[in-house]
Amino acid sequence: METILITGGAGFLGSHLCDWFLDRSWRVIVVDNLITGAIENISHLLGKENFTFYKYSVTNYLFFEEKIDLILHFACPASPFDYIQYPIHTMKVDSLGTLNTLGLAKSKVSRYVFASTSEVYGSPAVHPQSEDYWGHVNPVGPRSVYDEAKRFSEAMCMAYFREHGIDVRIARIFNTYGTRMRLDDGRVVPTFISQALKNEDITIFGEGDQTRSFCFIDDLTEGIYTLSTRDDLAGEVVNLGNPEELSIRKLADTVVEKTASRSKLKFESMPVDDPPIRQPDISKARKLLGFDPGVSLSEGLDRIIPWFKKKIED
Ligand code: UDP
Repeated sequence: METILITGGAGFLGSHLCDWFLDRSWRVIVVDNLITGAIENISHLLGKENFTFYKYSVTNYLFFEEKIDLILHFACPASPFDYIQYPIHTMKVDSLGTLNTLGLAKSKVSRYVFASTSEVYGSPAVHPQSEDYWGHVNPVGPRSVYDEAKRFSEAMCMAYFREHGIDVRIARIFNTYGTRMRLDDGRVVPTFISQALKNEDITIFGEGDQTRSFCFIDDLTEGIYTLSTRDDLAGEVVNLGNPEELSIRKLADTVVEKTASRSKLKFESMPVDDPPIRQPDISKARKLLGFDPGVSLSEGLDRIIPWFKKKIED
């Protein structure tokens, strides 16, 4: 049986990855300090034979007796709301935490997958964004704590690949949505769904002309799994996301319609450095991984709205 360590395994993406790997007969170890993750995301796994959870911060030294075949470094506050609230912790987890987990990968001779982000492209001057675009990031703005930590981590991954031959793979993850996102995490999909279900005003930042491209969690999870388990991908950097691009205003209209909500749109000021456009070029992922995010936004919303409804009612 192969063993995987998932940092941030109690978070939104991390917990879905736990399920995915356990279902495929892996032994799963999670390290999460629960700052933005939630124990309820993995409560159904606690006590399972092949699952171990440590409440611990990856910014501290990591030691494991057992073999570890694969490390997924997915710990990190990921919503702008969260990382602006925890700027220093965000920088530590994707600097010290990346160093510690790469050091562990070196000592255990593990494969290593890093959760990077479309934010490495910043406010892009190229559209759609492909992996060879170097980005356009404000190094001192409020979002820089996330963007620059992710960029630093990518550089550190490549240094371990080049100097120590560690089998690293970097996933640049674009906006993803699904169950287990916190209702109050500030990201646009859970925010709009919960506002719509409560018939509260939908808070649109700016005019809502900014675009994003949203990937359904199961498609993303499958992409991460393939990136992690396929051979001969050492040193590869791959965009993962769904290229179906739409404006935030259109997203608001869609959510209101699907929830049969009485909510009105409320326009608020645009956050500093909020990228006006974002769309992944996934040609590389299609070619290398056979990645094919088949769940449309409309279908994905239909699948998750009942979960959010139940969450609000509970
Ligand atoms: N957004 C919004 N209202 C909200 C939350 C977000 O209009 O209540 C916008 C935000 O300004 C951004 C987009 O939705 O342009 C996506 O924001 P999110 O926080 O989900 O992630 P980002 O893509 O900015 O990292």
